[in-house]
Amino acid sequence: MRILSQQISTYLERASWIRKMFETGAKLKQQFGEDAVCDFSLGNPDLPPPPAMAQAVRELADQADQPMIFGYMPNAGYPFAREALAEHLGREQNVDLQADDLIITCGAAGGLNALYRAILEPGDEVVCIAPYFVEYGFYAENSGATLKPVPARKEDFAPDLDALEAAISDKTRVLLVNSPNNPTGAVYTEEQMRALGELLARKSEGRERPIFLLLDEPYRFLTYDGVQAPAALGMYPYTVLCSSFSKNLALAGERVGYVALNPAMPEKAELMAGLVLTNRILGFVNAPAIGQRLMVKSLGSQVDTSVYAERRAAMAAVLDQAGMTYAMPKGAFYFFPQVPGSDDDVAFCAALQEERILAVPGRGFGMPGFVRLSFCCDKAIIDRSAEGFARAVQNFRA
Ligand code: PLP
Repeated sequence: MRILSQQISTYLERASWIRKMFETGAKLKQQFGEDAVCDFSLGNPDLPPPPAMAQAVRELADQADQPMIFGYMPNAGYPFAREALAEHLGREQNVDLQADDLIITCGAAGGLNALYRAILEPGDEVVCIAPYFVEYGFYAENSGATLKPVPARKEDFAPDLDALEAAISDKTRVLLVNSPNNPTGAVYTEEQMRALGELLARKSEGRERPIFLLLDEPYRFLTYDGVQAPAALGMYPYTVLCSSFSKNLALAGERVGYVALNPAMPEKAELMAGLVLTNRILGFVNAPAIGQRLMVKSLGSQVDTSVYAERRAAMAAVLDQAGMTYAMPKGAFYFFPQVPGSDDDVAFCAALQEERILAVPGRGFGMPGFVRLSFCCDKAIIDRSAEGFARAVQNFRA
């Protein structure tokens, strides 16, 4: 008997490249031992949470005997958590944000899905910049829409404005922008963000429904060499910010994120009412009580980003030694180097596997010819991969 919907059966058959790498990695680790495998396939933040978190957990433990401490709450999140977050984000995004302008969600992923359910109709399109976070397609389809990826400029992975303009159609409802970017590490400049806002303002003129500029920013805190992600929430009235504390507080399993609206959006109260409803009826109900309470007490702290900076330098040295071509990531914890001398990213990942090095083919992110390397692992593993990397490149070119 057929149990699954056609759509989910198809999704399962198309098992993601990240999952395939995870399975290959598990086999290699079983065969050769954990230490023999250099696994750069997973973007799972591995640093300990900042010290403020342990203190927050201890304080919370002392309150655990109170009634309702972990009970149901308003679907938009604890009012005190929305207030604290609005103040924090208002400063970060340079806008006058109030508690009513944001909802706390189950991670950025929950936020994106709640937003899509509130604004998308069957047949609508979400335009994004490729390469992109692989779940984006599923999220759009969860609300009956489709994802329309538009390739970034290959030299620096910046948005290609002409290509984006050409891709925007009558069906376009959202332009989804992820900066700092997974998988390229690109950080878009203030000028580029303004240009995107201006494009959407022009394209939204005369429409019944506006095109939203959707910012997905879970890596905002992690930039290098003095680069800063611009504060873009206030640049265009129909801007929506989705983000989370998964990476900056290493809180990924506790599922705390948010959707914040540009306070200048004329219909913001209506959109917020929609979001509160969709967060509930999608079954999220509300973001976790413990996570929200920990978030409030840890706001403003973050994991030790100098560790990521050291790993980035180590990975760049490995790639240089192997003669790989890449754009130095300006943010996040990924490299997206070019496959040497060919476009076959799957074959190159296989060559790396021969050396017990795990990478993910770029086609898994909508851009073949590249591979993604995540540096969510000890620097020692990165250093250890150098010889194997150089050998894999040499063998692959031969
Ligand atoms: N967006 C991007 C670009 C990501 O890389 C991730 C997670 O890796 C997410 C969204 C979802 O993160 P979370 O739901 O944990 O906030």
